[in-house]
Amino acid sequence: MHPSAAADPGQTAVLIERMNKWYGSFHVLRDIDLSVRKGERIVIAGPSGSGKSTLIRCINRLEEHQSGRIVVDGIELTNDLKNIDKVRSEVGMVFQHFNLFPHLTVLENCTLAPIWVRKLPRREAEETAMHFLREVRIPDQAHKYPGQLSGGQQQRVAIARSLCMRPKIMLFDEPTSALDPEMIKEVLDTMIELAESGMTMLCVTHEMGFAQAVADRVIFMNQGQIVEQNTPSEFFNNPKSERTKLFLSQIL
Ligand code: ADP
Ligand code: MG
Repeated sequence: MHPSAAADPGQTAVLIERMNKWYGSFHVLRDIDLSVRKGERIVIAGPSGSGKSTLIRCINRLEEHQSGRIVVDGIELTNDLKNIDKVRSEVGMVFQHFNLFPHLTVLENCTLAPIWVRKLPRREAEETAMHFLREVRIPDQAHKYPGQLSGGQQQRVAIARSLCMRPKIMLFDEPTSALDPEMIKEVLDTMIELAESGMTMLCVTHEMGFAQAVADRVIFMNQGQIVEQNTPSEFFNNPKSERTKLFLSQIL
């Protein structure tokens, strides 16, 4: 039994059909089919080089696919730049390296895009930023520069900054992989709260405790393909493919 997204397109956040991508002659993603319901929490796992980052980067068109379809909140990703802009404004992304602007304060990092892209008045942008900085529990850091913050705090700023654009979908690419162990939990706690708020999330992570706690579905990739997908309890307790069993034996 594979829990899959509802057939109703109004309830589908992301629809990917027979999608293929090449880097030059290297076939990096092979016949990907994936349908994500609104509000669904997906964890993407798999060995290094299996195409996890490439897959989520295709969802906001940081990478281009060559065949098949990707539809995000009803918008098909093609070369139409208008659609790409629309999708990017609906999809937030948090990376392994926080990618904050070092010369801007935390507050300015959070208000930059809302002011320049969303055209929000500065005051409103700052109120929104403070709201989300409180949500990630660092309102007291608003006037510091990223370099003055710990890694865990910087990653929570990156999450708050994404949320300031009011995304409908959040993509995470190994958000805790660059953090010292004692900072991983504070970022995962923030992600768990976001999941509980009903956000649609696709998270590439090796944090299997997070997957157990919040994922509706775990997707396992190997060599550019989705090899297996299931609920966390089935995925961890009853893995089907040999490749999944090997992967789990290495990380658990
Ligand atoms: P993962 O995130 O699962 O580690 P990636 O999506 O980063 O995997 O990479 C999948 C494969 O594609 C790897 O073999 C990687 O070397 C290759 N790859 C990634 N980015 C590029 C690129 N820009 N050009 C060529 N090959 C790439
Ligand atoms: Mg990766």
